[in-house]
Amino acid sequence: MLLSDFRMAQPDVTADFVPMYCLDRRQTVAAAIGRMCLEKYFHRQHLTGTQAGTLVRANQEALARIISAKYERGEYQAHAYAGSTIRRVGIELPDIEESGEVLTDRVLDDQAGWAMPDGRWSHGPASRDMSPLPETAEARCRGCNCSVVRDESGKPRTGRDGGARYAIEKSCPVHS
Ligand SMILES: [Zn+2]
Repeated sequence: MLLSDFRMAQPDVTADFVPMYCLDRRQTVAAAIGRMCLEKYFHRQHLTGTQAGTLVRANQEALARIISAKYERGEYQAHAYAGSTIRRVGIELPDIEESGEVLTDRVLDDQAGWAMPDGRWSHGPASRDMSPLPETAEARCRGCNCSVVRDESGKPRTGRDGGARYAIEKSCPVHS
């Protein structure tokens, strides 16, 4: 592998990519892993910047191999960095899918919780009383406008405890 010393940059949770830096001998090389491409790869909608960073950290070794392979093919752009110009490798979905690497998102399933409307992930106690559950007739009747978090195929997402995840609306009179 040509590139070495991979490290994650200070995460900017509002950016649409996760930045990484590494070295080609003594030359700094930047890499950017698109948040959208992580969403598509893992079939997860609306990843927060923090979740995307967590996924990159959990898959850092595989991503390092993918970045280095793309760099070795000469597929990089010029990128302004610290007053000079360095090379930057942008990682998109085909780069991961065609690499032969298998990334894991288990790290997110280990974090049971609730997706909040602003995208924050709430790590409440697993026993938090959610009844009446969002999307049930009783909850709707009481003015609940929360929803079950679903993947792209419409299947409810569950945490490691098997419990469903809910997107809690700030305006909900039952759950907020
Ligand atoms: Zn609700």
